[in-house]
Amino acid sequence: MSSRVLRNGLLAAFLLVMLAYIGAGSTSAAVPADIHSSCWASGSRSESVVAIARQAARWSCSDRNFSIDAERVLLRFDIAPGAVLPRYLLSRRSAFEAVHLLAIDRDGTIRQTSLPAAALPSSLAGGYFKASLPKLTPATRQIVVAVDLPTHRMTLERAYLAPTDPASSADDMRFLLVLAGLAGMLVMPLIFNAAFYRALREPFVLWHSALTLSLLMTILVSSGLSVMLFDPSAMTLSWMTTLIFGMTVASGTMFTYHFIEPGLMHPSLRRLLPYCAGWAICMSVLHASFPFVARPIQSSAYTAAFAPIMTVFLLSLVDALRRGSRAAKFQAVGYAPMILVGLIRLVTGILPWSSSTDAMLLFYVGCTCEVLFTTLGMADRFVTMRRERDRARTEADLLERLSETDPLTGLLNRRAIERQFDRLRTQGFAALAVLDLDHFKAINDINGHAVGDAVLKAVASAFQTGPNVRAYRLGGEEFVLLLRGDNAAMEAELRRQAIPMVVANAVPGLDRPVTASMGITPVAGDEGFAEPYERADTLLYEAKRAGRNRTRSAIMPRLAREDIPGDRAKVA
Ligand code: GH3
Ligand code: MG
Ligand code: MG
Repeated sequence: MSSRVLRNGLLAAFLLVMLAYIGAGSTSAAVPADIHSSCWASGSRSESVVAIARQAARWSCSDRNFSIDAERVLLRFDIAPGAVLPRYLLSRRSAFEAVHLLAIDRDGTIRQTSLPAAALPSSLAGGYFKASLPKLTPATRQIVVAVDLPTHRMTLERAYLAPTDPASSADDMRFLLVLAGLAGMLVMPLIFNAAFYRALREPFVLWHSALTLSLLMTILVSSGLSVMLFDPSAMTLSWMTTLIFGMTVASGTMFTYHFIEPGLMHPSLRRLLPYCAGWAICMSVLHASFPFVARPIQSSAYTAAFAPIMTVFLLSLVDALRRGSRAAKFQAVGYAPMILVGLIRLVTGILPWSSSTDAMLLFYVGCTCEVLFTTLGMADRFVTMRRERDRARTEADLLERLSETDPLTGLLNRRAIERQFDRLRTQGFAALAVLDLDHFKAINDINGHAVGDAVLKAVASAFQTGPNVRAYRLGGEEFVLLLRGDNAAMEAELRRQAIPMVVANAVPGLDRPVTASMGITPVAGDEGFAEPYERADTLLYEAKRAGRNRTRSAIMPRLAREDIPGDRAKVA
């Protein structure tokens, strides 16, 4: 069962990757009209941007090792004569204070605009902001961009000028459609979880919903979908991304904490997971709320803060796998692309010489893969849990049947009759007979208790039960028959009369036939067991007093109060 689930899941994941790959092909392709920076410089906010722009010595054009140590970092873009004129500056969003844009013409004329970061709109290209350039003319040769208080190198590394908002082409729309499809897929587990949780109140269902919800929000805020739907400002999306990332890590960690089967993860590792979740939430709230504290190093420190979480998480997963956890297998496959994304981001974010990579495409695939496989894992867990529950129920049923069975004769006992009585009555069992063996004590006394037991077993076998007759041993040598149908009284009587012969056959050597007396009464529609039993018992007592080996019936008026002689039973 699980291997099939796993195989289907792998196939689905493969298709997803292909889909995302096809969809993303366009966004990564370089557009010829895009212009990337050729030189960079740094300064302080008190200096004039124009002044820095004019000092050739301050520009570094040989390397792209942007540093964000300075308060202000400038980028210069060269515009070749005759090139398509750009209209926008685009770059990865991250917290910063303001951006200044200078258009410098061949003759030295400068047009300048300044925009506070809060005023910057988001680009349709996921994760990018967009700033309109000052008016450009065919004589414009340079664009200088100054970013005040940058917090992330990526904003400088990824900056480029473009003539249109990217992601507005048909190809890019296709990619957004694919993403919208992925986002739609993530809604399904939320619905399943609501249904699952009604049946099984396990905390991991709630954490899986939290995880799915945060991944769904991640896809929305990190792609152009949120821009299409809500058009939030770039800085709003920037802090939302940070908070949602913290939520994702925390809920993923808590999901693992609850989802890995009890005993299949080292207790210390399990105990660490909730701390990791708390740590992730704290870090992301602090990073989103105070982006400028220790600004030059905060982004790297923030990224590095997730290294211990990643370590604990990976160790937990490996440990659970080693202990044979099924849940961990699903998680390992589901999380694999995300873990890879995390590693890529960690490595490229911390190492100063590598340009930070966010591996967005792999990230989207990872979001979906994670939800897909954890959902499959949960489905698998539900199957296991139901199987365990069914087994427990079967065992309970067996115990109950045992507790309702008389071990000597194999007939049901008084407990069973009391439990079944109402149901049987509604099924038409409308006659109740009580039988008691005559002078049974004497049989015990003469032949011994073991022979007495054999007689009781033989008597039980005389009550051939079927769809219309149920037999119970009430205790000692007293039996109850429940009967339905027009011939109920006769059926009971035939069984009573069969006793001497059946017993004589089964237990040879008895000095005289074993007979029984019987009282039989109809059961009214609303009666419990006690009332008809008492009536039948009274009739039985009358039969005993009248000489035993006979029946007293309250059923057929023709027979009522009449002795039915027992001599029809021929003793072999
Ligand atoms: P009566 O015709 O008035 O019913 O007389 P009786 O001797 O059948 O009735 P009584 O109640 O005096 O005796 C019942 C006897 O059944 C007493 C007891 O030793 C015996 N008995 C009860 N349960 C068992 C059992 O499980 N096995 C055996 N061998 N004897 C049992
Ligand atoms: Mg008796
Ligand atoms: Mg008795």
